[in-house]
Amino acid sequence: MNEPLEIRADFVEAREVLQRLARAGASAAAPPSGNGAPSSMATGQAAAAVPSTWAEQTLRRLLESLPDALVVIDARGNIVLVNGKTEELFGYSRAEMLGQAVELLIPERYRAAHVGQRANYFAAPRVRPMGAGLNLQGRHKSGAEFPVEISLSPLQTEHGPLFTAVVRDVTLRKREEAKFRTLVENIPAVTFIAPLDDSAPEFYVSPQIEQMLGFSQKEWLEDPVLWHRQLHPEDRERWNVQFAPTCAEGTAFRSIYRFIAKDGRVVWVHGSAQMVRGGEGQPVFLQGVAFDVTAIKEAEEAERARARLTALQARINASVTRGDALPVMLRRCVEALVEHLGIPLACIWTLDESQESLRLQASAGAVSAPIASIGIGSGIPRTDDEVADLIAGHLARVMEQSRLTSALSQPLRMEDRLIGVAALCAPGALPHDVPPLLRQICDEIVLGVGRKHAEEALYRLNVELERRVCERTEELARSTTELREKSEELEQFTYVASHDLREPLRTLVNYPQRLLKHYGDTFNPEAREWIERVTNGADRMRRLIDSLSYYARVLRRDRSFAMVETAVVIEEARSNLQAAIEECGADLRVGEMPAVRGNQQQLMLLFQNLIGNAVKFRSSKRPVRVEVACERRGDDWLFRVRDNGIGIEAKFLERIFGLGERLHSASRYTGSGFGLTICAKIVTGHGGRIWVESEFGEGSTFFFTLGVIDD
Ligand code: ADP
Repeated sequence: MNEPLEIRADFVEAREVLQRLARAGASAAAPPSGNGAPSSMATGQAAAAVPSTWAEQTLRRLLESLPDALVVIDARGNIVLVNGKTEELFGYSRAEMLGQAVELLIPERYRAAHVGQRANYFAAPRVRPMGAGLNLQGRHKSGAEFPVEISLSPLQTEHGPLFTAVVRDVTLRKREEAKFRTLVENIPAVTFIAPLDDSAPEFYVSPQIEQMLGFSQKEWLEDPVLWHRQLHPEDRERWNVQFAPTCAEGTAFRSIYRFIAKDGRVVWVHGSAQMVRGGEGQPVFLQGVAFDVTAIKEAEEAERARARLTALQARINASVTRGDALPVMLRRCVEALVEHLGIPLACIWTLDESQESLRLQASAGAVSAPIASIGIGSGIPRTDDEVADLIAGHLARVMEQSRLTSALSQPLRMEDRLIGVAALCAPGALPHDVPPLLRQICDEIVLGVGRKHAEEALYRLNVELERRVCERTEELARSTTELREKSEELEQFTYVASHDLREPLRTLVNYPQRLLKHYGDTFNPEAREWIERVTNGADRMRRLIDSLSYYARVLRRDRSFAMVETAVVIEEARSNLQAAIEECGADLRVGEMPAVRGNQQQLMLLFQNLIGNAVKFRSSKRPVRVEVACERRGDDWLFRVRDNGIGIEAKFLERIFGLGERLHSASRYTGSGFGLTICAKIVTGHGGRIWVESEFGEGSTFFFTLGVIDD
């Protein structure tokens, strides 16, 4: 673009000097003589003449000191006056220039046209810059061209009109301008100038505007209000309000607005502008710069969307993990969707296959929810599109009534199985990040629903389990009570029976003896033997009854539990068995024994039976040895009573704990077969177990456990 020329003060000054020179009588119309001295003013004839007056001399010196070249031509276009600066600028001597057509000083290609232009000017001369808007070029004698600014003015003399051209070399300025322009037009921003007054520079928009908004620089320059039309309609009002103070008071303007680009894109622009005032403080023009900040805005928007997503996800996550019932959980989810997305309606339906419908479980938002159920008939919609169609059809009425234009639905699927649908409605288009967002949210909701189903199944299982445990516990308590009652009954019966049996037994023993005493002589040996057998049988029965009543007595007498030092009860048992131990010279060794919680009398009986059996069922082949020991096994004490007696055949190992079980005849080993039964009863009554290990012919070891007392 061409810059307008200005009429500088020194041009005006030069013109005045010339007029004064003319008035001083310098001749300007005569042809050049060609001998102008370089140090003095050359004016044709006058050039040779010695300046006649002080005034003339002064004026000539003034001309020579002008910073610009001065060329005066006559009405024929011939050069009649030049100054030293002209020689310097164009490379010609004064003599070479004087009398020549002024076209000598312009590039050859313009010369022909210039002649016509010059004639036009001469016809209506006035003071003005030459070639306004054109890039004027001077031509050096060498042929080199250089940019110039020229100011023209007519001058009336007695010898006719003269025309002065003040010529300035603007090479440096043009270079500076070019540099400045390159700078301005290469920054990644649009610069602009908007005139507010006639003296202002023209409206200017830098060419970067095309890249920013798609309209060319030319389009902007031809239509100075184009930019206002392209301002986003929603931002116009704000712009008017914010920009007014800049125009009225000259305060700096700085703000962000949206523009609509030529292709319809929305472009975010950060603009700043300030007013430039004239010498009298009047507003002259506005200058400003505008940056495209769309990328920053989009990044901010993306960041906001991310933050919104994170916040919404956190809230959905909290809702689905709170442990609320399913409808409450879903209600919290739709409330979160409505609040975070700023929408007027969000709903969730769940599939009720038995009812062949989608049942509305939760809805939130300013718009009231659609009717509760969506009938789906026998065919469940399979694809997302089918679901979307179904929901869109269902929501159509609500949307129309509430002027909502967008609906978005998302199926809730658990392992590809449709379990429900979530849907959103909005008055305008939903932001593009909402569909993926809703998908993610629905995944969370499905997880939550899955968890809820699992929890409910677990809860139902627990309830069932508890019910069964209660039933079993009651059953157990019933059987325990029954058992205890039976056991007590049995003990009672045993006691009573053993007591009541004594009397007839006594009879059974007495009368055969009386028979022998009074009629013994009449009996043959066979009869005597029979009577003896009856007596022996009765005797055995007596022992049996004795044992029965003894054990019944022991077990009934004392049921209380206390701390028992087992070493003490073993010592008591040993003392009770003293006679039998001494009789066979048994070596009884007792290791370190713990204190246990139990019944002292019963525990004594337990050790007495086991040690007594160990001594009774001794082997005649070796000295009798009995060892009692105890060791800790987890929460139990493990006791053992080991002997080196006759041992027990493997097949009898379990049987011997049964009531009245004996492996030997009474003639060989006395006993009733109750001992181990009683031992087992005592041990289980103390919460322990009893068993035996044995090597037939080598010896046996009886084991039993009793609980360790907690500290
Ligand atoms: P009893 O000793 O009165 O016969 P028990 O109930 O004490 O009755 O014992 C049952 C049977 O177990 C005994 O008759 C015997 O055959 C066998 N028995 C018990 N203890 C031992 C032992 N230490 N060694 C070998 N056999 C044993």
